[in-house]
Amino acid sequence: MSNGREYHLTAILRRGKKVVRMGANVSKTHPRFTRTYSDGTTGSHMHAEMNVLRFAEPGDTLEVMRFGKLKMAMAKPCEHCMHHIRLAGIKKIRYTNSRGTWEEIRIR
Ligand SMILES: [Zn+2]
Repeated sequence: MSNGREYHLTAILRRGKKVVRMGANVSKTHPRFTRTYSDGTTGSHMHAEMNVLRFAEPGDTLEVMRFGKLKMAMAKPCEHCMHHIRLAGIKKIRYTNSRGTWEEIRIR
């Protein structure tokens, strides 16, 4: 935890058994990603998912892992990322939940 954030989020883009790209959440802002959250706050950081999506090809799998200070935490992609995940043609998303186990979303 060297970056001072509450958690680390890592996204892994897979094509078959091959890891195409790994990305992490960064606090660097980008105007394109400015958004308003449901609680009224705004944020413009690039999510880990967004870091790897530009390398995605239709049919790829996206894995998102979130590490809290002490344990794994829910890493389900937010609605904003889900939109871009669909646009990228991702077919399967795996993410860690707060129990540290994997959950899966399949996109048709
Ligand atoms: Zn997101």
